[in-house]
Amino acid sequence: MSAEVYDFRSDNVGGVAPELLEALLAANRGTAAPYGDDDFTHAMTARFRHAFEHDGLVAFPLATGTGANAVALASLANPYGAIYCHETAHINVYECGAPELFTGAKLVGLAGDGYKLHAAALDAALALAGRGNATRVQPFALNLTQPTDFGTLYSIDELTHLSEVAHRHGLLVHLDGARFANAIAALGCSPAEMTWRAGIDVVSFGATKNGAMNAEAVLVFDPAVAARVPFLMKRGGQVVSKARFLSAQLERYLADDRWLERARRSNANAARLAQRLQAIRGVELSGKVEINMLFARLPDAAVAALDCGPFRYYKLGLDQRFVCRHDQEPAGMDLLVTTIEGALA
Ligand SMILES: *Cc1c(COP(=O)(O)O)cnc(C)c1O
Repeated sequence: MSAEVYDFRSDNVGGVAPELLEALLAANRGTAAPYGDDDFTHAMTARFRHAFEHDGLVAFPLATGTGANAVALASLANPYGAIYCHETAHINVYECGAPELFTGAKLVGLAGDGYKLHAAALDAALALAGRGNATRVQPFALNLTQPTDFGTLYSIDELTHLSEVAHRHGLLVHLDGARFANAIAALGCSPAEMTWRAGIDVVSFGATKNGAMNAEAVLVFDPAVAARVPFLMKRGGQVVSKARFLSAQLERYLADDRWLERARRSNANAARLAQRLQAIRGVELSGKVEINMLFARLPDAAVAALDCGPFRYYKLGLDQRFVCRHDQEPAGMDLLVTTIEGALA
């Protein structure tokens, strides 16, 4: 990458954290059993159990977030099912139907402001879902994306209420945590508080966007559900041969606070950038900035100036999206701000 390019496209444009590269090198000595029956994977599970304060947790390493979501949802599926989610959820929009393929389920996307589901609306929708009516698909899972694809967060209370509603209607709850660390850093809560203590049944735990080399995990808290996962993973082509290289990273990832420090820095970079952009006359932010992602609505002149500059970012509809990494170059953030200021002066 050329040093003059300032990249705000996403957090996965970044590199791999040094301690995870070291963990890969350490795992590269000698041999290990393939397909996840190795010491690194057992150590990873122990690490997740400790971090999540849950002795029955089972962790499965895999290489993509889409794969994690598809497997996690399939572990809950019935053969004539429905998965409820927000209409903007990653599983509903950006996964090319992988969750539908793996589960055979119909996805039901509900509206809700802040890109979030609301407990009362979910309750009302599930009351009309036709439980027991053989002409209707039968809901088995609720998907919550935390943080959402648009950088908003559910509070622990909101997660808890949504899980209660889902459980009352006979659904289990899946959390898509592709940016799990950013949510934990922003809420200042523990992994346990944001998952099983709030009623979450299975988790897609993302590490790639926060420094890992293509390493994610499906976390399951119920042994009966966990027993299904190896079969679903293999059938879905999600079992990696040299699993130790995923597990070694995930084990190291949780071994100290660096994962949270990176997420805190990413979030703080976005908060600072948002503050500076907001101070420019003519710049409007679309919604509050809760994690490392911000959406702006810039005048055409500012967009044109950015496009002539050394910047990379995504345009989504009328908005421009800027995602900050923990190692976002301060010079790049300064130049972004002064370029927009210059164009609007
Ligand atoms: C990035 C992302 C994923 C998918 O991860 P991939 O590794 O790209 O398949 C899933 N959910 C959310 C919310 C994401 O942001």
